[in-house]
Amino acid sequence: MLYLSLVFPPCELTTKRLQRTLFEFIWSSKFEKVKRQIMHKPHHLGGKDVPNIKLFLYSKFFSLCFKNLTAFSPWAHFLRYAARHIFRKRKWVSISQTGPVLLSPPKQYLILEKAIRTYDLETFDIDTLKNPRKLLQQIKSKETMTPISYYSYNRTASVWKLVNAPYLTNQHKDLSWMIVHECLPTRDFQYRRRLSNMQTCPRNQCNSDETTMHLIWNCDFAQQVWKECGELIKFCSGLTFLNHEIVLHAILPNLNKEKERVLLCTLSCIKSALWKTRNILLFKRDYIIVRDCIRLALSELYMYYLLDMKKLGKKRALSIWNFHLWKMLF
Ligand SMILES: [Zn+2]
Repeated sequence: MLYLSLVFPPCELTTKRLQRTLFEFIWSSKFEKVKRQIMHKPHHLGGKDVPNIKLFLYSKFFSLCFKNLTAFSPWAHFLRYAARHIFRKRKWVSISQTGPVLLSPPKQYLILEKAIRTYDLETFDIDTLKNPRKLLQQIKSKETMTPISYYSYNRTASVWKLVNAPYLTNQHKDLSWMIVHECLPTRDFQYRRRLSNMQTCPRNQCNSDETTMHLIWNCDFAQQVWKECGELIKFCSGLTFLNHEIVLHAILPNLNKEKERVLLCTLSCIKSALWKTRNILLFKRDYIIVRDCIRLALSELYMYYLLDMKKLGKKRALSIWNFHLWKMLF
């Protein structure tokens, strides 16, 4: 595809179709829960680092043309014939004025003009324009951090860093990321987009709107789970209190790296169990009690314990996770 698109770069409609297919695959539906602009951002800026096909292909094609503009190959002669005026008015390099000029270039060369305007390429230096990898990096470096409610820049950066912590499993990273973006397909989320005719929490005698905050923190069921897990969290990480900022956004107090890792893994497992029990209740009509929800969380936490046991040895893993206490507490 790359070779073909360097000869005949795809038009905007084709790139849009490719992007649409990519996002349908990611979300497993035509309904996209987060803006594409955010999805393309790197992890540390709150995105998911989804490849931007249009940016990738257009920047590659532009760099190839720019590099060969002053060459003496047969293609370079044709390039100057077809697209000389696009480069000439920018005064990047001096191009020979002799030879014929095509006043209405074929559409693949019009893409060069589009790339210059869309990605503001006039602001880059010549060395960057010649190097496709550097050009792509420089364009991406202009992206800004995705804000989170009222948080400062540093706090937001720390949240995105912890949400994508390398020791978390991909499933937990995705869930935490969706919680921060408030894009979990809860009833409230779907009701606002006219995908559901109910907004309330599916649990019995809970008449509140089912928002992400309600599901993970405010719901009576969630509160009972967090209360029961309090001792476990205290033993493993030393944290004596919890609030919605710690649970939903990983705004953690000062802890050493190991305690921070244990706390993040524990919180992720509990959030995952809450989300799973809610889905089982909604789609399979099966009510799971608080104790079983905690057991579900512990089964996921056990994976982290096993990983540590493999990496650090049984003795060290036992002292980190206090595994013998799990059975005593639950
Ligand atoms: Zn509820």
